[in-house]
Amino acid sequence: MLAGGGLLLDTPGMRELQLVDENGLDSVFEDITELSARCRFRDCHHDTEPGCAVKEAMKSGDLSADRLEHYRKLEREAQAYELRHDEKLRRQSERVWGQFYDEVARLRRWKGGK
Ligand SMILES: [Zn+2]
Repeated sequence: MLAGGGLLLDTPGMRELQLVDENGLDSVFEDITELSARCRFRDCHHDTEPGCAVKEAMKSGDLSADRLEHYRKLEREAQAYELRHDEKLRRQSERVWGQFYDEVARLRRWKGGK
């Protein structure tokens, strides 16, 4: 999946995430994505929110509870994956900025002749 990424791919969740990475979470769960668009709230978690189209579909039997649970699990994993990824990027940029500030500080000292 990721060349040189060094990610552990031996857990079932990660294997599924790999599939999600290729197709996108939205394309794998197109039905749920379409339903979410009809929820009253845009950031609906399909949990306790009123006017939730996903829960309505589950009640009427159009959507299986298992499928929603599966979707949630993958969504959580995708988020966790993104968070880890962001954290790595943040640390990288902090390091770069840190070097930059060191450089600026050195230049200032040099300019001041001290
Ligand atoms: Zn909803």
